[in-house]
Amino acid sequence: MKKSAKPVRKCHACLLNLGDHCWVYHYPRGQWRDGRRCRAFDDESLHEEFRTWQKQPDVKTRRELRQEFFRTKRKDGVQAGK
Ligand code: SF4
Repeated sequence: MKKSAKPVRKCHACLLNLGDHCWVYHYPRGQWRDGRRCRAFDDESLHEEFRTWQKQPDVKTRRELRQEFFRTKRKDGVQAGK
């Protein structure tokens, strides 16, 4: 059976829950299995690390740059905002 990367219901209030995956674990369900509690849920040092990671400048891929360009491009070929 394929292990899902999707956080489970108990991850709902966690800072590290990125919606479709967890920032730390590849298999969030395993962190809560058998009555266990995820260790990263209350780990302040890990949360601080996550906040630092979030503040880092976003490096865009070539694809993202291309998509951004075409979203702002007007019909006459001139970029909007210029
Ligand atoms: S760190 Fe733990 S509680 Fe938070 S999203 Fe990941 S598995 Fe869920």
